[in-house]
Amino acid sequence: MKIIIAFSVLMVIFIMLLPVFVVKGVHAEHDISIQAVETEPVLSPEVSSEPAAVSPNPAAPSRGVDTTTMVKLKTGDSVVTLTMYDYLVGVVAAEMPASFYEEALKAQAVAARTYTYYKMLNGSNHSDADVCDNCNCCKAYFSYEALREKWGEKYDYYIGIISKAVADTDGLCVTYEDEPILAAFHSSSPGYTENSESVWHSPLPYLVSVESPENGNTVPNFYTEVIVSFEEFKSTVKKSYPLAVFDTDQEGWISDAEYSDSGRIIKVRVGGVEMTGTELRGLFELRSTAVRWSVGNEYICFEVTGYGHGVGMSQYGANEFAKNGADFFDILSYYYRGTSVKSYLMLDSDKKLL
Ligand SMILES: [Zn+2]
Repeated sequence: MKIIIAFSVLMVIFIMLLPVFVVKGVHAEHDISIQAVETEPVLSPEVSSEPAAVSPNPAAPSRGVDTTTMVKLKTGDSVVTLTMYDYLVGVVAAEMPASFYEEALKAQAVAARTYTYYKMLNGSNHSDADVCDNCNCCKAYFSYEALREKWGEKYDYYIGIISKAVADTDGLCVTYEDEPILAAFHSSSPGYTENSESVWHSPLPYLVSVESPENGNTVPNFYTEVIVSFEEFKSTVKKSYPLAVFDTDQEGWISDAEYSDSGRIIKVRVGGVEMTGTELRGLFELRSTAVRWSVGNEYICFEVTGYGHGVGMSQYGANEFAKNGADFFDILSYYYRGTSVKSYLMLDSDKKLL
């Protein structure tokens, strides 16, 4: 009898606790499934979804604004979360040669950090990430693993240089009226940078054309040529612009080019269709919109100067300034007019400025 009573009491207790077990079980599974989704995209040890990620980079500062700010990076179909510090090391390494002068690398680190903050605060190009690793959309980025492969036995030396540029500028951003700017940058300019409205339609007071000191002696592939046969020219244009007509002789296929003061094409007619210089650049994969052309017997030859959209800081120009003794504050305030470099930027969990 005692055994039966004891058994019944145990059963009652078990039944009373059952919902707790079940609910707990559901919660636990739910937690696990959320965690699995978040951790799945982690591709390599240096990028972790854990906020307390420890950088595999021995040069990483133990504490700083960059090591406590997290960035969501889209890489392929995955999104990884990493510290601003690790992200910026990967961006500077991908965007600028490690052999550049230290002050140019620091200017690059600050510009890349500013761009990232701008995207976090003003809306990203991506619904599920702050930035991506595609240089045609956001900024190029190499993981530590990719850099090991790229640099081989020079890895320790180069990673030390890049890491120092990021750590020495910890938390610094370029600001205009106390807000991080759209810190656009490009590889090289044909004597002058470009106004933002020539490329993106809307003017920004700090993205205006300035003289830039790089040239064919200091920039590899500063002058390039793209040769396109007449047939290829017609089919390439018609694929994107079906209304284009090529019923004149080849001399008339490209006409009415309007150039900006910096020597880049703003507008041009191709096969009678008006397009922007940026669109022409995209069609024929030209390195910039600083383009002249000539018509041969069987082909059209584009002669291109510089590389990139031309807006904001020129990387090779920054290197020339650094070579001549400018520091990164000088370089940034030269290319981004009317701006300041400030260090107060911190974001709370809702990505609001503190
Ligand atoms: Zn992107």
